[in-house]
Amino acid sequence: MARRGANQPSVGGYNEAVVLDQIRRSHGHSRVELADATGLSAQTVSNIVQRLLEAGIVEEAGRTSSGRGKPRTTLRLVGTSRYAVGVHLDPGVLSVVVLGIDGDVVARNTRATPDPHDPSRTVGVVTRDIEKVIVDSGIDRDRIVGVGIAAPGPIDAARGVIVDPPNLAGWHRVPLRDAIAKETGLAVMLDKDVTAAAVAEKWVAPPGDVQNFAFLYLGTGLGVGLVIGDEVVRGGSGNAGEIGHIVTDPDGLPCGCGMRGCVAVSCAPAPVVEEAERLGVLPAGRAGSDPLSIDAALTALVALADGGDVGAQDLLRRAGARVARALAVVSNLLDVDRVVLGGPLWDRVAPWYSATIPDALEQLRVARDMHPVTVSGTALGSDVGAIGAACLILDEALTPRTTSLLVRHA
Ligand SMILES: [Zn+2]
Repeated sequence: MARRGANQPSVGGYNEAVVLDQIRRSHGHSRVELADATGLSAQTVSNIVQRLLEAGIVEEAGRTSSGRGKPRTTLRLVGTSRYAVGVHLDPGVLSVVVLGIDGDVVARNTRATPDPHDPSRTVGVVTRDIEKVIVDSGIDRDRIVGVGIAAPGPIDAARGVIVDPPNLAGWHRVPLRDAIAKETGLAVMLDKDVTAAAVAEKWVAPPGDVQNFAFLYLGTGLGVGLVIGDEVVRGGSGNAGEIGHIVTDPDGLPCGCGMRGCVAVSCAPAPVVEEAERLGVLPAGRAGSDPLSIDAALTALVALADGGDVGAQDLLRRAGARVARALAVVSNLLDVDRVVLGGPLWDRVAPWYSATIPDALEQLRVARDMHPVTVSGTALGSDVGAIGAACLILDEALTPRTTSLLVRHA
């Protein structure tokens, strides 16, 4: 069943988002089919479609005839009508994409995040990368509806502020949304990286099914983005999905929270690399403890495992089993239908974690006799966070509702 609309005038913006979402997913619904799929009245759908036609966002694609009755006009998105920029700021990686309304990435730029602990320098780098992808895309600036930013939490979503992320040491209440709006002159939204990743995954889900999934984001930190009952779960303050203090290894290292073996000290890249160094799998004497040095060491660890090093292989399998324990807690709590894995780290560890996580998760899952849970890597690759950030701004900017997450530079 698709997302349902509500037949009251006060929720017009929501309904427009529902109709647009249905047109995007269906690849050729008529007005009658849109009304069926959304539960909206024929008149409401007709009014919304008229507005979208006038705005050039959708077009009439042709006529279908289904035997009796008059032929129906099908509708489709105009892929070139609107674009959004998506920014994914991970302490280790900075990715920026330009995304078309039909979901095509038309330009991208990825680089190691330079000097991630200096917010003002990062604002400058993000701004330059945004301008670069816009130029690279060759798209008129007036077709860019805005910029979505995915960043590590905690965030103050209403104010567009990055509060105090554990992996961005120099960031304390940085008003990133307003800073980027001022520099670019574009409308800007800020959301948590894990939420953006879940939004992207929801965007590309096939039409028809109600989505219930957890997106495990593996980057410099680990977190979960949630879509339950077809809705993105943000929680009361936009900070849902913090799994850092789920205990996955009761005999593990002490964590700053007072417990032992939490996700934060057993599954994130830094502790995995440190464990490899303690066990002599990786050489001691790493150059630095910054995200780039950790990232390089993790790449070396995976290369050892891929090359047949049994110690490296065992270590990655154990790390995968710990991740599965955290996923079991999330799955049991929320009864999801699937688990999706992605983020900057995923491509490298995928072969090892994919071999471990499904079975380990199944053993710990309470509802395993009731329904299966599929475990898969995201089809969107390492751009998933940036794509999700762009989806956020497309969803928001193409519909007349306004939320406090969006700021337009005056
Ligand atoms: Zn902890």
